[in-house]
Amino acid sequence: MTGKIRLGLDFDGVVAYNPFRLVRAPWAFFKNRFLGVKKLSFFYPKNQFEKMIWIIMHDSSILPARGSGLLRELVDQDLIEVHLISGRYSFLDNHLYAWLDRFGLRKIFRSINFNEQDKQPHLFKETVIKKLGVDIFIEDNWDIVDYLDGRSKAQIYWIYNIVDRFRPYDRKYPYLEKALEAIMGKKAV
Ligand SMILES: [Mg+2]
Repeated sequence: MTGKIRLGLDFDGVVAYNPFRLVRAPWAFFKNRFLGVKKLSFFYPKNQFEKMIWIIMHDSSILPARGSGLLRELVDQDLIEVHLISGRYSFLDNHLYAWLDRFGLRKIFRSINFNEQDKQPHLFKETVIKKLGVDIFIEDNWDIVDYLDGRSKAQIYWIYNIVDRFRPYDRKYPYLEKALEAIMGKKAV
């Protein structure tokens, strides 16, 4: 790979560390196995109470992920340009910007794309990845990785968690820093 890499990043679980992501893998498994839900679809909170719970869960994305320092360095060195592509529903927009400002991360992104029309997250990401023509997209949700892989020219890098770490996949990493090192290693070759 030559030239500046155009990198797309999911927010929750990739740029931000979120302890609740551990809950999602068993939930996806349960839905598929016991509720017989085969089609990929994601929960959307319908009333104020569900939205409030959702906001509290997402506010637990409290800390920048390990690797956010390296991310900033690579942008400063002009080796990559980064685009945030978050599937978060629109009622969380303000929280997203507040979080980025709190950690001084808003300015590193060439563009910030969030799910204003509350589409299904995987479909939203597919659209934005194609529109921006990103070379690589980093995502933590296995179902979304599986869906996006091969649908565009973008290589999909997966941030796995301890629950699904044994799932075979060529480009899987425990956290952002390792994924970035792999990307820069490839560039150097
Ligand atoms: Mg995520």
